[in-house]
Amino acid sequence: MTEHGHENDGEDEEREHDDLELAEEASYVCGSCGEEIVVPLDPSAGESQSYVEDCPVCCVPNEITVEYDEDGSARISSRLE
Ligand SMILES: [Zn+2]
Repeated sequence: MTEHGHENDGEDEEREHDDLELAEEASYVCGSCGEEIVVPLDPSAGESQSYVEDCPVCCVPNEITVEYDEDGSARISSRLE
């Protein structure tokens, strides 16, 4: 007996996504050494954040600006202080 074209994909368990999943990490490029730095984010701190972080590679402080998009992804930009 052969069953044809009858796959059980098990995808009928759909969860509701009422609240967005905000990104918990993002990366910026250091304005001094050009390294890509991955930083953890704190979604509970608001949808627009800015702070100064020393580059772990070259130790130059970068001013980081984080903004969350409507879809929960983070936009991060940096500039030298
Ligand atoms: Zn750097």
